[in-house]
Amino acid sequence: MSISMLIGGQDVAALDGSTFDRLDPVTGEVATTAPAAKAADAQAAAKAAAAAFPAWSKTSPAERRAVLMKAADELEAMAPEIIAITTSETGATAPWTGFNCMLAAGMLREAGAITTQITGEIIPANKPGTLAMAQRKPLGVCLGIAPWNAPIILGTRAVATAIACGNTAILKASELCPATHLAIGEAFRRAGAPDGVMNVVTNAPEDAAEVVGALIAAPEVRHINFTGSTGVGRIIAQTAATHLKPVLLELGGKAPLVILDDADVEAAVNGAAFGAFMNQGQICMSTERIIVHEGIADEFIAAFAAKANALPAGNPRDQVVLGSLVTPEAAEKMDAIIADATAKGGKVIAGGKRDGSVVEATLIDNATPDMTIYAKESFGPVKPIIRVKDDEEAIRVANDTEYGLSAAVYSQDIQRAMSVADRIESGICHINGPTVADEAQMPFGGVKDSGYGRFGGKAGIDSFTSVRWVTIEDPHQHFPF
Ligand code: NAD
Repeated sequence: MSISMLIGGQDVAALDGSTFDRLDPVTGEVATTAPAAKAADAQAAAKAAAAAFPAWSKTSPAERRAVLMKAADELEAMAPEIIAITTSETGATAPWTGFNCMLAAGMLREAGAITTQITGEIIPANKPGTLAMAQRKPLGVCLGIAPWNAPIILGTRAVATAIACGNTAILKASELCPATHLAIGEAFRRAGAPDGVMNVVTNAPEDAAEVVGALIAAPEVRHINFTGSTGVGRIIAQTAATHLKPVLLELGGKAPLVILDDADVEAAVNGAAFGAFMNQGQICMSTERIIVHEGIADEFIAAFAAKANALPAGNPRDQVVLGSLVTPEAAEKMDAIIADATAKGGKVIAGGKRDGSVVEATLIDNATPDMTIYAKESFGPVKPIIRVKDDEEAIRVANDTEYGLSAAVYSQDIQRAMSVADRIESGICHINGPTVADEAQMPFGGVKDSGYGRFGGKAGIDSFTSVRWVTIEDPHQHFPF
């Protein structure tokens, strides 16, 4: 399919007319032909969003809520067409994209609901006769940069709360799923969002630095949120710092799943399989390290390997649990990770095979710190198992990473699980649940190299507003001269 960008409510091509192709990772055919924006297009989007800001920032909460609620309905109604687009652009299965549409609609409804919760405070003033207030104000144009892996959720998250708070938004689409990301803009347009409130810019991979640089530098852009890799996150933070613009960064992860020796084995296996293999392990919260107490290791690992071996992997258009990885190269990377681990003493106890861009659910037992799989984000369905002798070692291994996004602990002793969970350095931690979870109203974000700032609920309001001190004073107050 061939798409346009959405700028100022209009379908637009790149100013120089150039396009790029996104290929289907399974068939190798062109999935989408999209405009290849350059700096001038980025500046046009910033101007369109800025032109919409004065009116949108003055709309009532009820008006903004109505648009967001309608956008949620439109997005849900578009789910069948979005599923087809996303499968061809990213290789994702239908249930994954269906879940994306459902959660993203929930995010839009939650954003609609918070329009009446953007409250300030009255602060006691020392000056007699003064009423002092802290008011929350929209920031202006907010730039959101979202990845391909949970494309509808993360693209929606990048704009929904910002728009709810009275800002206008630009979504910089992923080069790997331009049509999927454009669909979010289309949902806003169908919902009657005024022109320029929601804009979508697409670019070829080789122009990413130019387009993102131009968007961050545009004087109209007042805030940046970025979901993606830690490497690019650093570049974005540095560029934004040059222009003194605030940034919210949601970056990579290496989520530990700790199984203590009193865990319910069946529950832990089910949580581990979901956390490790949903969307082929391509989720920032994916379980990337399975840390098992040696007292339960043999029993847990045997059951987990059996479960992993039973998960069908194949063409995402068929009835499978694991579809395609996002590119053939991402799948080939799994071969290298497995070869590195087995050369260093790791044992493949489930999966291990690849067919084109499809990789089986793979588990590597006896993982050690010298292996690539121990330290680096695999962002695929290849997962290491590390056996530990006690809770102290489990905590040490869980924290032995530069990342800190999500984590989970399984134990039937809640006091013990709480004390382990409390010492894991992460922005999110679940006891007796998988590392992968998201709800629109929850504070979502990481620590360490997983980034800073929070999406979701009240934390999201903090991110997308600034606090302004306003007073009403006694005009006849006393002055010293
Ligand atoms: P990526 O960092 O490679 O690319 C993301 C974006 O960066 C793209 O839009 C691209 O245009 C832009 N970009 C690339 N080079 C640039 C440059 N030099 N200057 C400016 N911008 C540039 O990430 P990805 O591969 O699309 O996504 C996968 C990563 O995202 C994983 O590391 C994953 O953990 C992370 N992720 C994090 C979360 C979270 O919430 N923390 C959620 C999903 C994914």
